[in-house]
This record gives sequence, structure tokens and C-alpha cells, in this order.
Amino acid sequence: MEITVQASVYSAERTAKNATIHLESAQAVCDLPPTLTQNCIAYPPFINSHDHLVGNWDPRAGDNRPYSNTDIWVEEMKYSASYLERNKVWINDGTFRLLEGTAYRLYMLGCYKNLFSGCVAVQDHGPNQKPAYYDSFPIHVIRDYRQCHSISLGNWWGGKSAREEWESTNGEMPFITHLAEGTDERSKSCYPRFKELGLAQPNTLIVHGIAMTPEDIADCAANGVSICVCPESNIFLIGKTIDMDACRKYGVNVVIGTDSTMSGSTNILTEIRRFREIFPHIPANEIFAMITANAQRALLLDDSYGTLQESNKHLLLMAAHTSDPYENLFHSTMHDVELLVYDGTPVYGNAAMLNHFHHDPADYFFFAHDGHKRFVKGHPEKISAEIDAALGYHKHLPYIPY
Ligand SMILES: [Zn+2]
Repeated sequence: MEITVQASVYSAERTAKNATIHLESAQAVCDLPPTLTQNCIAYPPFINSHDHLVGNWDPRAGDNRPYSNTDIWVEEMKYSASYLERNKVWINDGTFRLLEGTAYRLYMLGCYKNLFSGCVAVQDHGPNQKPAYYDSFPIHVIRDYRQCHSISLGNWWGGKSAREEWESTNGEMPFITHLAEGTDERSKSCYPRFKELGLAQPNTLIVHGIAMTPEDIADCAANGVSICVCPESNIFLIGKTIDMDACRKYGVNVVIGTDSTMSGSTNILTEIRRFREIFPHIPANEIFAMITANAQRALLLDDSYGTLQESNKHLLLMAAHTSDPYENLFHSTMHDVELLVYDGTPVYGNAAMLNHFHHDPADYFFFAHDGHKRFVKGHPEKISAEIDAALGYHKHLPYIPY
């Protein structure tokens, strides 16, 4: 399928005006008519490098902010009004066996939060689940990883020790952990301990790193460690985020994550806007790389992710609001996604686009936004209805567009 767009963003370094993109889709009926796509900009779909899908409840928890470290928040949030409301929909019994009970209500809507904001891949940080979990999603919830909750709290939610988890990666999948999420001595001691355990490795992804010193950050760069920044969550809980100038000076591979909406922002699009408010001197294309190519590298994804190429099986078309295609992202919301394709299948967008793909309407949910007919793969509306029934009132979740 050929798609002609106003501009195409191939990578953080390369764009083209009036480009034609090739999409590999077994469902394609014909090329997309230019009348539908000429006001669109094509991007590689985004990658959210840090989320907790079951944690995407709203509003946020954090009555005693700022915290000197988030180990305090992890315990305290269990008594927050938001967490208690979520208990009516799903009770976290501490086993993290997410295929059981009603956890699907949370993790599936959490996945849709990512889909609705243009992501086709998301790192769901928690204990590894059975294959059926990862098979159930309309986009790529990354299954090949090993993890630890944090160095300060250990793997309290499931999994082996940090060292054992890292060893079981065989260097072939990412090892992911929260680290140094605070400003106190406890947080500052995390990286030296991490380093001593031999965990500063090229397949390691450190999440947060707020208390890391410039020397710690230089050491990450020297060892090929990637760092995930969650700006909204960090500022909300701690009042501070990582030393980005040191990350840039030493050339660390930096990626961006939303964290869950219990502490972070609405979705990846609001997250990059927040990143820019905090770091206004960082160029738009550099931020774009953090949610595309840098994330592909950090999460060891195959090269169909992170860049656009001659031929693509994942594709994102966004409405154009400005002529600079990188700047355009900072003016975009989930309603600006004209078409999102994952592995050749259209999963979200303008319903007029879907007519050019073979599809069974029963596989999709259609809804109106601002007078426009929209589609999404699957039936998140059924889960929303289940949640409303369990609560006895309508629950507004800010990342849901219908
Ligand atoms: Zn987290």
C-alpha cells in the first residue's frame, strides 16, 4: 500500500516533504487516497519505555509530596483514595498473576492508553507473565525482558534477585529496574551498589536515576547502559528529575517513559510536552529519538521499530498542525492520530482510513470524537462498561478518547 503524505519523518536526522511511504499490510485493499493523507505527517510509531499497565488508574496518589525517595510512596499509595477506588475494580493480592481474576480490566485499558497515543510497543514493568498475557494485546507489550523492582526494595513483587535476573538475560534481552528514585542518601547509594553487583551492562535499562551523580551517569555511558526518564512522575513525586545535561554531555542512550497514571502523565504525548517544559533547551528531534530509535536500542527490539524505512509494517500518521514535523508532535493529542498500524493491522484512527483495509467490523469499536468517526481494534468499551458497572458510576480515565 502506498501512502502520500505532507511530510515523512524517517528518523531524528532525516525527513522528507511530499513523501510516499510503503506500508506492508495483508489487509490493504488499495493505496490510501491522497485526499485522506495529504495533511498528515508520517512517523515511526512510538515506544513507551516505562509503564505499569495495571497501575493506570486516576487520579494520582501522593498526599505527602515531595518524597525523599519513592520507597515511601510505594507503601503509602496503597492507602490513597485512588488505590482504594481501584480495589473495587481489581484487587492486587500481591501475587502479580495477572491472567487471574479481573486484572485484565486494568492491564488492557493500560495498553490502550499507549495505543491511543501512537505507541505500538510498551515496556510493562512488573514480574514476567505467561505468554497468554502478551498474546492478548493489540500492540506489542514487550515479553522478552528480565527485571527487578528496584535495588533499594528488591524484587518484592516477584522475580529473583537483581543479579540472577540479569544473568538470565544472557545479554539477549533488556534488564530493567527502577534506580535512585529520590534525593536522599538511600537513593544516592543505589548506583554504587548496582555497579558493585555487576549490573551496569549494555543490556541494562535504568529507570529514573534521579539521585545519580554526573560521575555515575558518565559510568553508564561508558558501559552502554540506557536510562529511562519519566519527567512527570519524577517531578510529581520527588520534585526533581535526572541530570539531563550530564546525560547529554556523556552521550547516554536516553529514553522516555510515562510510568503509570498513578504518578505520571496521561500518555506519551503529554509526557514529551512535559519533558520539553522541564528541558526547553533540548531540540525536538532529540526528544523524538527518545521515544523511537533510542528506545528500539534500549529494549533490544528488531529494526522494524524506531525508524521508518523503504517499507514498513508499523506506521503512524498524525494530523499536521505545524510545518516542522518534529515540532508537530508537541502540538498533538490522541485525537490527532489519523492512522496507527501495528504489524500490518490498522489499530486506531480515522474511520475513513479503515475503509481501505479488508476488515471485519466486529473486530473494531467505532466511536465519534468532535463529529469525526474513529475506530479502534478490539473492544475497550466493553471493559470501560465493566468498570462502570463495578463502581456503580461512570469512571473518567483521561487517556480514553471515547
Ligand atoms: Zn515505574
